[in-house]
Amino acid sequence: MLAEAGRSVTLIERADGPREKIGESLLPYCYFPLERLGLVDAVREASFRVDKNSVQFVSTGGKKSQPYYFFQHRDHPSSRTWQVERREFDALLIENARAKGVDVRFGTSAKKLLRDGGRVIGVEAENGAGPTELRARLTIDASGRDTFAQRQNAWRVPDPVLGKLAIWTYFEGARREEGLDAGATTVAYLRDKGWIWVIPLPDRVSVGVVGEPAYLHREGKDLEEIHARECRDQPWVRAYLEGARRVAPFQATSDFSYRSRHCAEDGLVLAGDAFSFIDPVFSSGVMLALWSGVMVADAALAAFERGDVSAAAFRGYGDEFRRGIEAMRRLVYAFYDRGFRFSEFLQRHPELRPDLTDCLIGNMDRDYDALFEAASRFADIPPPVPHGGPKPSA
Ligand SMILES: Cc1cc2nc3c(=O)[nH]c(=O)nc-3n(C[C@H](O)[C@H](O)[C@H](O)COP(=O)(O)OP(=O)(O)OC[C@H]3O[C@@H](n4cnc5c(N)ncnc54)[C@H](O)[C@@H]3O)c2cc1C
Repeated sequence: MLAEAGRSVTLIERADGPREKIGESLLPYCYFPLERLGLVDAVREASFRVDKNSVQFVSTGGKKSQPYYFFQHRDHPSSRTWQVERREFDALLIENARAKGVDVRFGTSAKKLLRDGGRVIGVEAENGAGPTELRARLTIDASGRDTFAQRQNAWRVPDPVLGKLAIWTYFEGARREEGLDAGATTVAYLRDKGWIWVIPLPDRVSVGVVGEPAYLHREGKDLEEIHARECRDQPWVRAYLEGARRVAPFQATSDFSYRSRHCAEDGLVLAGDAFSFIDPVFSSGVMLALWSGVMVADAALAAFERGDVSAAAFRGYGDEFRRGIEAMRRLVYAFYDRGFRFSEFLQRHPELRPDLTDCLIGNMDRDYDALFEAASRFADIPPPVPHGGPKPSA
């Protein structure tokens, strides 16, 4: 978006090119940033995607809920979203950036923030041929869960409650749901408020187990054993994977919920996971990253116009992004609360179904206070995290 507006942009990526990555299940509201980028048709027609019309929940006993069909909530093209192979999806995004004039440099790592006085003026980067200095009026940190600027500045603050462990791999030959449900995301509950994701991709299926480390490690720490045990103990997942063949190694990550102390300092702004990540249960990560990317670009263009790229120029962006993150965070807390069941909640509050569905599909443009006030009668809904605003200028 910045290059399209005529700005000179250099993008550095540590990897040698787009690569396999977690974050395959998109939300309906990914549509709008993709529309701004002119990429909706390209994704819709791509071979790396499966249409995702719904999300469904499966009880610990293996009973499947009625799927939540997005189009029943809103009759709009965004209601058909996608499961994507990230290597190809990311390649599409980066090729689009390159076509619009971005200088894309793979195999180049940001190593250090460069400062002049109190202001960030770029990064020291490394591309195998020795360190180089890249200077810019504005540095945007989009380094994902590597949280480059948070680490440089000691800004990382873990979420006080959501310390989970995730273990995932891929299978071929799993059973597929049929028709409209073929591309549904399934969230299957584990006994102790953990869950398993099942995300069908074009040629394989992504299956991940998420829960408290103490619960998942109760018989040992071997990733394969934990994953196999939990999939075996969940009747729906066991049936789904019968006869399937594992085609990838196990991967794991933990303690992935955090927020940066600040969203910006003079000359620097943080976007996507580089600012914050919350638990993946509602597949909100890519939507939040795309949405924040669009907001950062808009805020940066306005800041360039005014000739002011101080931290304060990103106050509005930070407030808006945090409001959206808080909505998803409160939903995640409700999900993990032992006293909360979506079905029971909606029976008691049928009038809040549109609010709940809007939140689940990633509509960050509205106020969810009524929803969470009602939810707080069933679950401990946390107050907003106070930090994350721009760092006051020196
Ligand atoms: C277990 C798990 C499951 C998930 N499932 C989903 C899901 O189903 N749906 C969903 O929407 N989201 C999901 N997510 C979240 C999703 O992966 C992220 O939110 C999303 O990819 C964030 O995008 P981003 O652009 O901020 O960061 P990323 O996509 O992580 O991109 C950051 C890039 O920066 C590069 N980089 C890092 N450090 C440097 C450096 N110093 N110099 C240069 N380059 C650097 C990295 O190589 C990377 O390519 C999941 C996350 C986890 C942990």
